[in-house]
Amino acid sequence: MSSERQYRKQIVHYGHMLHERGLVAATDGNLSVRLDSGRILVTPTAMSKGMMRPSDMVIVDMEGHRIAGRRNVSSEIGMHLLIYRLRPDVNGIVHAHPPTATGFAACGKALTQPLVCEVVIGLGCIPLAQYGTPGTPELADALEPLVPQYDAILMKNHGVVTYGADLACAYMKMETVEHFAKITLVSHLLGQEQPLNDQEVEKLIVARSKYEGAKSAAPMPLANGAGNGERSRDVQAARESSSQRATSSHSQRTSSRHR
Ligand SMILES: [Zn+2]
Repeated sequence: MSSERQYRKQIVHYGHMLHERGLVAATDGNLSVRLDSGRILVTPTAMSKGMMRPSDMVIVDMEGHRIAGRRNVSSEIGMHLLIYRLRPDVNGIVHAHPPTATGFAACGKALTQPLVCEVVIGLGCIPLAQYGTPGTPELADALEPLVPQYDAILMKNHGVVTYGADLACAYMKMETVEHFAKITLVSHLLGQEQPLNDQEVEKLIVARSKYEGAKSAAPMPLANGAGNGERSRDVQAARESSSQRATSSHSQRTSSRHR
C-alpha cells in the first residue's frame, strides 16, 4: 500500500509519460488515484501534464469538493467520480486525447474489430460513448452504461478514458488503446483486415481470466457493428448488468453470444 506522497509522485510520473508520448497536448488530460473510500487525489486544472510537481495535486471528496491543495481541481473531476462510484475495483484513472484513438472517436468509430489477440484479452474491445459536453451530466450519462463492463472507453469528439486497479494499469491501458488505434488504422489503409473469427475470440475470452489486470467482462460486439455508439445489444447488456459484475455470469453470457 503506497502512501499519499508516493501517489503524488506516481501521478507526476505518468503525467510526464502522457506528455512525452504525445497522448496529450497543452494542458489536456487528467489523472487521479483513490486514496481511500472518501478521498480522491487528482491533477489540477490548466496545467501541462509534463510540468506538474507532487505539491500541485488536489484532494477532493466523493462529491468533488476540494479538501486539500492550493490549485483548482480538474474540470473533468465528475467523470472520475462517476467511474470510482460505479467501479469499486478501480483505484486509478487516466484521461487523455491520444491523436489516433481520438481521431476514431471524432469519426464516430469504436475500436471493436478483433484484430490483435492481446487487445482482445486485455480490453475486449474499446466502445464509443456518445458526445457529452465536458464537465456536465450529459457526459456522465453517456459513459454510465459502459463503465461497468469496459476498462477503456472512447469519448466521441473528445478523447479516451482508461482505468484500473492502480494508476500504472490505467496508464498502460491508455498506451494500449492508442497503439491499437494505430494498428487498426494501418490495417484499414492496407485494406485487407483479417479479424479473428468468433471461435478464436471466444478462446481468448476464456484465456482472459488467467491474465492479471483483465477483470472486466468487456463483451465483444456482434458482427453487426454494435459498439459504434448506437444503443447496441452490448451497451444494453452493460446497462442491465451494471450492478452484477460476477465474472461467471459474464463469461456464460459472453460465450452464449458467440455460439
Ligand atoms: Zn478531455
